[in-house]
Amino acid sequence: MNDLHLAPVQPDQPSHLMPVFGRQPISFVRGRGSYLYSDAGVEYLDALTGIAVCGLGHAHPVLAEAIAEQAAALIHTSNLYEVPWQTAAAQKLAAVSGMHEIFFSNSGAEANEGAIKIARKYGNQQGLRCPKIIVADGSFHGRTLATLSATGNKKVQEGFAPLVEGFIRVPFGDVQAIEEAALLHPDIVAILLEPIQGEGGINTAANGFGYLEDVRRICDQHQWLMMLDEIQTGNGRTGQYFAYQHTQIIPDVLTTAKGLGNGFPVGAVMTQARGTGILTAGNHGSTYSGTALGSRIVYTVLDLIEKENAVENAAVIGNYLAESFREQLAEQNVIVRGFGMMIGIELPKECAELVAIARDQHQLLINVTAGNVVRLLPALNMSREQADDLLQRLVPAIKNFLN
Ligand SMILES: *Cc1c(COP(=O)(O)O)cnc(C)c1O
Repeated sequence: MNDLHLAPVQPDQPSHLMPVFGRQPISFVRGRGSYLYSDAGVEYLDALTGIAVCGLGHAHPVLAEAIAEQAAALIHTSNLYEVPWQTAAAQKLAAVSGMHEIFFSNSGAEANEGAIKIARKYGNQQGLRCPKIIVADGSFHGRTLATLSATGNKKVQEGFAPLVEGFIRVPFGDVQAIEEAALLHPDIVAILLEPIQGEGGINTAANGFGYLEDVRRICDQHQWLMMLDEIQTGNGRTGQYFAYQHTQIIPDVLTTAKGLGNGFPVGAVMTQARGTGILTAGNHGSTYSGTALGSRIVYTVLDLIEKENAVENAAVIGNYLAESFREQLAEQNVIVRGFGMMIGIELPKECAELVAIARDQHQLLINVTAGNVVRLLPALNMSREQADDLLQRLVPAIKNFLN
């Protein structure tokens, strides 16, 4: 292992980091595909990929080379000039999404901020003084003030009053609640939803993606913007490039991030149809929007997803994993929810301890969300052998835990 990878931490000094994260007592010095290597040299199977970020796995050689080449040529010039890699990345993203206008952000929350601004301006253009956006219970949209206000989780909001106004909350999956809100509030302009709630426990509506079709119909009836947060579900994660592509509908506004940069911080807010033409010169921006380096990374990630058939692989291997968990845990009273490489295993009891058990006893990295849901977000290009490796590590861990 190369010493260059080891950070010169002063062990006798405080970290000086703001204590906002609950960190596990382990660090990694390198990765390869679906595996990570700790500072102690131990190999771990990574079924979380940096929280749905490294969809192509760690240290992808083609991406690493593109990053090195671009970093050596040009990282950033600003949007005062043309940025050809930004255009190339937008053209590729438009082709896979069906969207028309794209703004690159640096994170998921910032992409959602863009979506919220689009909805606000759409309302302001209609002369509404306080345009409202419908959002769902159990949702997660980010940690900035507007996005935490949109988030349906009290813990995320606690201590940050006053929240940003203009959000109306409905139960996720409840079409009637949306129709009732429409009757009560004449100033609704948009709905913002995750097609599958990730942080919320890998949930879809009771009628699955039929909910999205219902929401699309309601948005059209009222001329609202249908805005989908595909920050976690996008970029091949669910076995389609975007989760709405499991249906016939297309949103007016779409946000993504996470898998878009395979670890490089980048996001995007995209529009088509009713969503286009709203943000114009001077309305939005960011110093780092679509840098040459970030855009080359997005272009290369999209190119690799295509060339490696990663979306199709995510569908096939994800389905194999979900089916295998259902079979092998049939006696355990668990509920498996699988959408490509976004898999939730709901246990009959709280299971936060499973994270440490899987890590220390099975060298497997997983996450637990919503208290009792084991969340798996493996690399899209995981092989069948690696999927079997994952099953062999996790199934006994869950069985032992529940016995
Ligand atoms: C992660 C996530 C966000 C926030 O993205 P950041 O890059 O952390 O700001 C927003 N929405 C969803 C659905 C997410 O999964």
